[in-house]
Amino acid sequence: MPRTTPTPRCPIRVGEPCSLCFPGATGPQDCGLVYLVQSDPEWREQLADKRREVQARRPAS
Ligand code: SF4
Repeated sequence: MPRTTPTPRCPIRVGEPCSLCFPGATGPQDCGLVYLVQSDPEWREQLADKRREVQARRPAS
């Protein structure tokens, strides 16, 4: 059975995989944009709202 490496999800673009769009990033763990958003309480709250919105739209499994 072939082994596959899981693709990390982008914490900013909710529901999408990390596309390494931020210069210098090797994934969400060292992405400057993720760091910026997580450092700002207002942006962090907006992101949490967006996550809840996306979660609410997902069909129940
Ligand atoms: S590089 Fe950062 S902003 Fe871009 S997709 Fe990956 S985690 Fe998201």
